Amino acid sequence: MSSTLIDEATRIARDFDFPAEQVQRGVAEYIKQSDEGLQKENCTLSQIPTFVTAVPNGTEKGLYLAVDLGGTNFRVCSVQLHGDTTFNLTQSKIMIPRELMASGTSKDLFLFLARQIEAFLRIHHNEHFEAHQLRRREGSSEEYMFDLGFTFSFPVRQVGINSGTLIRWTKGFNIPDAVGHDVCALLQSAIDDLDLPVRVAALVNDTVGTLMARSYTSPGETGTFLGAIFGTGTNGAYVEKIENITKLTQLEGAHYDKSTGEMIINAEWGSFDNHLSVLPSTVFDRELDADSNNPGVQMFEKRVSGMFLGEILRRALLAMHNDSKLGLFKSSQTSKVSIPSDSLFYRQWGLDTSLLSQVEADSTKQMTDVKAALKDHLKIENPSEEECKAVKILVHAIGKRAARLSAVPIAAILIHSKKLETSDMVDVGVDGSLVEFYPNFEGYVREALREVPQVGPAGEKSIRIGISKDGSGVGAALIALVASKDKTLQKS
Ligand code: BGC
Ligand code: MG
Repeated sequence: MSSTLIDEATRIARDFDFPAEQVQRGVAEYIKQSDEGLQKENCTLSQIPTFVTAVPNGTEKGLYLAVDLGGTNFRVCSVQLHGDTTFNLTQSKIMIPRELMASGTSKDLFLFLARQIEAFLRIHHNEHFEAHQLRRREGSSEEYMFDLGFTFSFPVRQVGINSGTLIRWTKGFNIPDAVGHDVCALLQSAIDDLDLPVRVAALVNDTVGTLMARSYTSPGETGTFLGAIFGTGTNGAYVEKIENITKLTQLEGAHYDKSTGEMIINAEWGSFDNHLSVLPSTVFDRELDADSNNPGVQMFEKRVSGMFLGEILRRALLAMHNDSKLGLFKSSQTSKVSIPSDSLFYRQWGLDTSLLSQVEADSTKQMTDVKAALKDHLKIENPSEEECKAVKILVHAIGKRAARLSAVPIAAILIHSKKLETSDMVDVGVDGSLVEFYPNFEGYVREALREVPQVGPAGEKSIRIGISKDGSGVGAALIALVASKDKTLQKS
């Protein structure tokens, strides 16, 4: 058995090392870029004020509608908050047709969303249509409306809790005519076209929703401090002192409750270090970026999140496949491996992160799970053990780098806020396919956190990380609640 494949995989894997010293430099740079983002507009880190100025404590009550447009699916749900940290959630989920994500118009997309909302209401909440009709028949001047929280997981310049303009699309989305427009207004107008009794009450980034939901379901003395997503994309939101958000003074007509002295900031850390001063870069990272529909932006996200890890891996494997001396996945006299020409292996974005999770989880000697993953995802049959081993080495390297990179913004935000010095326990809510399913993702994050001197082993221990399941739905409901209580926001 020749060891060239393994040697080459090991060599490539080394390019994905992200040692302690680089983690530390990353943290220092993140603190710098995040400070800039709090002071002015148009920085690499957008540091978006969300106008949410308090986190829940578990006593919130009410029934709200919530929708979530994020990576792959569109979710519609209704959330009943019981006011005792628990909730009931009814939901429907539908995959967003690819043509609506990247080639249609914003009108097509938002009409599609409104139709899903209508279908959901007809099945689960028909009483709201009836209430609406009744109010109209009675000739009441105030229309009956069901309040909706809109989780929209893209960078939006917010001007209030219920309005904001799209800065840019990320992940697989690209619908140019929506950029610069108020996404709440776009959704509301599609809803109105269908005459649904629904008011878009709040605009919510998924990280903010995650933070809010976590704070509602596991309230501590001070609530949750940070919400983060490691899924198709990556991003974080945290509680900032209003006095530090100096750019707020430039926002004319912004309305918010200042009494808590705090506001949640949506960092948009996917765009950290777009100019690559501290981020590691392999040839595969560079090629992935050049061939993406948004080259030069979301550079952190392109090294960390699910949508991109599969593509990095695919490119590394493809290079070994095309190298005639290595001939990965090429059958020969001794190898009977087969790979059909329509395999997703040959298609850009063809590799799902779940493949990485499955491969990383394999602990069998025969590499049964690696073989199954290659077969299920890529129709690759009969790979040799050596080929499977090479895949494992690369997957591990790419996944571990992603997790270690993820420690950078977390450590930086904790250091910047002095949270570790002022609290015994800091609560972090997370969500997303990567933290949920990639084996030991959190473990690698924690390892890197300990390597940052201002965090260290003691600081790392005082960080409590919990998955916030259904976070975006519950979070959107919580923010819709805040918004619906704020009468100054209501249109008559
Ligand atoms: C978006 C963020 C979002 C994150 C996680 C990124 O691509 O820019 O707004 O929070 O994905 O879904
Ligand atoms: Mg999501």
